[in-house]
Amino acid sequence: GLGLKVDYASELNPDQLLAATTISGKVLVIAGAGSGKTKTLTYRTSYLLENGVAPKSILLLTFTRKAANEIKSRAKALLTSSLSNGALSEDKLPASTALNDITSGTFHSFCNRLLRQYSGLLGINPRFTILDTGDSEDAIDLVYKEKKHPTPTKNQAFPRKRTLQNIFSTSRNRRIPIRQLIEDSYPDIAVHIPIIEQLAIDFHEYKRANHLYDFDDIISQVVRHLKTNDTFRQLIQDQYRYIMVDEYQDTNIPQKQLIDLICAPESVSLMVVGDDNQSIYAFRGANYENILLFGETYPAASLIKLEQNYRSTPAILNYVNALSAQITLGYQKQLYSNAVIVGDKPTFSRASDEPKEAKTIADKIIEHKDDYDYNDFAVLCRTSFQSNYIQLEFMERGIPFIVVGGIKFIERRHIKDVLAFIKVLYNPNDTIAWHRILTLFRGVGAVTATRLTQAINSDNNSLKPLIAPTFTKKSPQLEPLYHTLTKAAQAESVEAVIEQVLSFYIPVLKLIEENWRERSEDFRVLKNLATEYSSLDDFLENLALDPPNDSVATTSQSDNADKDKVTISTIHSAKGLEWPVVFVNSLVDGITPHHRSVDDFEALEEERKLFYVACSRAKTKLYLMAPDYFASYSGYFDKPSRFIAELSPDEVEVKTSKKGLAALASEDPVWW
Ligand code: ATP
Ligand code: MG
Repeated sequence: GLGLKVDYASELNPDQLLAATTISGKVLVIAGAGSGKTKTLTYRTSYLLENGVAPKSILLLTFTRKAANEIKSRAKALLTSSLSNGALSEDKLPASTALNDITSGTFHSFCNRLLRQYSGLLGINPRFTILDTGDSEDAIDLVYKEKKHPTPTKNQAFPRKRTLQNIFSTSRNRRIPIRQLIEDSYPDIAVHIPIIEQLAIDFHEYKRANHLYDFDDIISQVVRHLKTNDTFRQLIQDQYRYIMVDEYQDTNIPQKQLIDLICAPESVSLMVVGDDNQSIYAFRGANYENILLFGETYPAASLIKLEQNYRSTPAILNYVNALSAQITLGYQKQLYSNAVIVGDKPTFSRASDEPKEAKTIADKIIEHKDDYDYNDFAVLCRTSFQSNYIQLEFMERGIPFIVVGGIKFIERRHIKDVLAFIKVLYNPNDTIAWHRILTLFRGVGAVTATRLTQAINSDNNSLKPLIAPTFTKKSPQLEPLYHTLTKAAQAESVEAVIEQVLSFYIPVLKLIEENWRERSEDFRVLKNLATEYSSLDDFLENLALDPPNDSVATTSQSDNADKDKVTISTIHSAKGLEWPVVFVNSLVDGITPHHRSVDDFEALEEERKLFYVACSRAKTKLYLMAPDYFASYSGYFDKPSRFIAELSPDEVEVKTSKKGLAALASEDPVWW
């Protein structure tokens, strides 16, 4: 050991202490929200280092890069302060506690790094590029068209690229054969099964031939190599001896396989922590049953339950427990709190419409402003669409905010365009990026783009075909493109590459977008992000796998967590986080739960879990809100969420508008 002494027993309760100090074997920590799962991982990290475990042999898998960094920096702070009450600076820490040497991040970033690092051993090209979901859809479309399948007749409409992408991804992440998946879930397109099965194969080969990996490939390919390449598996098993996984309930089958392959030797230590009630990513194939299966996979595993909640006041916890009890499947948990002050019951109130709901939220924030900072507040929305009125209202009232979740910065069209230039510089075989660039020009359609891309690829990836007369006669922009890419290839920094690209792209954008000026604002942000990276691959990798959210667009800093601002977030992006005051809005039936989920038991269950995640973020105040009606393109909804109505007024205080009161008095089921 290092002779450091963090006082674990005084910082952790006995169950947490057991979890933090059980450093061999396989351990499952299962516990409800706010019971200190993530905190325990933090202390376990410092405990491992204190006990002489080499940082290089630790692998920490979390849901976002930010979450991993937070665990590491807190563990570092613990070790630093224990050295001599914080008098020593962190660079005086013994070399073996260099937390930077811990491998950490998301499943995707970990697998991506393995593929590049071991490319030689695995026989793959390390200069591959990553297809995001939209790129994958485009690639599927391209492959389908290039194969010239017979055009389906009118009454046999072929599924759209989005549906196909979904089918391929679900089939892989849930390990369901395409045929079975279509027969079960997409019976309308069953006539196309043979073509779709063939398309899946063609799509796969196309990606391999062009060094393209979609999100699913990144993990599945590592799993495949671990299964088939003994040398690789041995290397990985020798390196990673201590593995920790946060938010284990949101892993899917390939992710579980990855963990199981690395942890197969008995000597590898594994701790996974999770809450089956918080699994909210089934649409990505996440499988909360991974938690239930843990004991089967590792019969010698120990199970540790954490039952004390430290996050919420008893009044809020009471409500959260009641919600948790409504979730049918999984481990039953009842959390208790030792807090003395019971606090306010959550309230449910209705406003006449959405703008009024936004106004009520702003009023409350102003009302509480003496007791809280702006960053103590969060507004959690079912989807990012439900945040529009809130954003408008906050802007009008001068309430500073950041927006998290929803349409990602890099999913914006003009950002994707600029990234496409960078992608072809890095991987000239990225046909999807080439298509994106070339079809920006009038006179260049998909056919020409394909021919031009093929010419480039078969000319040993020389850019010369761009200035060949056969092509330049199609568009006068190809020649300047040639010069731009040639110069960009020689640029010395990522930022300089972007400058080069923009000098060409902005004039193009002016021709196709009326609001090019507003969009150009984003380029400032992009350049700013670029200054953090020294290589194109790091830059592309991080943007693709751990993309900045919308908040980067509102400030010039990429990491502005320390700014005093109200958080407006989707519930999905709020996972693992906490705020003193939480608002959950749009709680009308049809939005929460989503109307498409209400006839499907599992989908409804997931909506319920989502609501549980939202409410369990609150420490001292929880405001549940609904407008009297919600009119959207998909329907008109005016009943309060069934999740509210299912619980008794013991847990929640109902403050309704006139209309809501009338409904309460009627003979209809409870509140409507
Ligand atoms: P979630 O399921 O939402 O991810 P979690 O189980 O990971 O929650 P943490 O975020 O680790 O919970 O902890 C919740 C809060 O409780 C944090 O503010 C944490 O600092 C505090 N906490 C946890 N354990 C203790 C403890 N033993 N003593 C004091 N505070 C604690
Ligand atoms: Mg957590």
